[in-house]
Amino acid sequence: MERIMALTTSAPKGGLSYGKIHLPINIEGKAKIKPVYTGLCGTDRAEIAGGLPFTYNPVGQDYMIIGHEAVCQVLDIEENNFGIKSGDYVVPVVRRRGSCINCRIGRPDNCSDVDHDIREAGIRGLDGFNAEYFYDTPENLIKINERSMLKVSALTEPVKNVMKALEVFEKLSERSIFTGDDSTYLLKNCLIIGTGSEAFLYAFMAREYRMKVYMTNRHELGEQKMKIIDEISVSFYNYMKDQGPDKVDLIIDTSGDPATIMRFVRKLNYNGVAIMFGTNGAASDTPISGNDINYIVEHNITIGGSVDGSKKHYLNAIQHLEKWNYSEGGAVNKLITGIYDPDDTGIFMEKPSDEIKSIIKW
Ligand code: NAP
Ligand code: ZN
Repeated sequence: MERIMALTTSAPKGGLSYGKIHLPINIEGKAKIKPVYTGLCGTDRAEIAGGLPFTYNPVGQDYMIIGHEAVCQVLDIEENNFGIKSGDYVVPVVRRRGSCINCRIGRPDNCSDVDHDIREAGIRGLDGFNAEYFYDTPENLIKINERSMLKVSALTEPVKNVMKALEVFEKLSERSIFTGDDSTYLLKNCLIIGTGSEAFLYAFMAREYRMKVYMTNRHELGEQKMKIIDEISVSFYNYMKDQGPDKVDLIIDTSGDPATIMRFVRKLNYNGVAIMFGTNGAASDTPISGNDINYIVEHNITIGGSVDGSKKHYLNAIQHLEKWNYSEGGAVNKLITGIYDPDDTGIFMEKPSDEIKSIIKW
């Protein structure tokens, strides 16, 4: 039986080990793939800490290969309808279709029964991508067009979430005229709560809409983050000290902190939209007052949740990453703040203070 090096955890109890494992038994397809870079996020760290009760190992295994962000090279693939050949660079999708109506139409991101219907690589019942090599189906691979995009393509998975959330925003903002009377978003303000990797990717995307973009957090930021914020012409403020803009039109929350979200929802303009993206089950509860409700109702405010993204959002993400790779001197590359080896397991335990996105080179 083949044995490969892999980073594994045991879901949902956690832990992390890097060592030889038998090639997983639940081989999905015949495409043999090796990761080039894998990305690390809060979900991986929370899984390792045993903090995600909804995670589970693949059937018949007492471990799960961790990691759901990756750019890989195809080593060997049979002829397929997706135009993927041996040698190609690809991003594997995380969430795999179930049998509900949304999954069947290619939108597992809108799955109607996430707990039972779908599997997610490195999260729910399916091995992830931190392994010497693995097997997958062509349907679940998205091709990267340019070799020069390899490193930045490690951001495809988190960017696809941004693409989906902004699709949700577009739908929600359609119920009234959201643009200014000059037909643009130039006079609109977008506020992004949080300053982690997803927040930065939202900032890149909100600028595409030509909104004035603010990022906020409850503390000052280090030099490295402030430099990128400057380079991409976004404004940052520490909301414990400064007021920020009086009114905003679009809020994107990446904190998942209820008290923080409520503080900002009352800044929304008439017909404003708030997208809830961050999740934080450990955050303390916060009361919502009758006046908050009055404010939301009287201002026609829409609050919408957005999770994951489908294959079309991955394609969209690649297209935007290609564009950002060449604009602002490739500032998007600076979001990758550290490159590690698979055996640098400490990076999974502790987040460096200036981290935006840490990746592993395989
Ligand atoms: P992250 O790096 O942990 O980002 C979270 C950001 O929120 C950090 O900058 C954090 O600040 C900030 N924050 C936390 N509490 C705050 C508060 N009270 N006020 C202001 N800012 C606060 O994680 P990420 O990878 O960027 O992901 C962002 C969030 O989205 C996470 O909750 C993640 O679980 C979730 N997520 C959702 C989806 C989806 O599909 N909906 C997909 C991926 C991730 P400091 O760390 O600087 O203190
Ligand atoms: Zn489904």
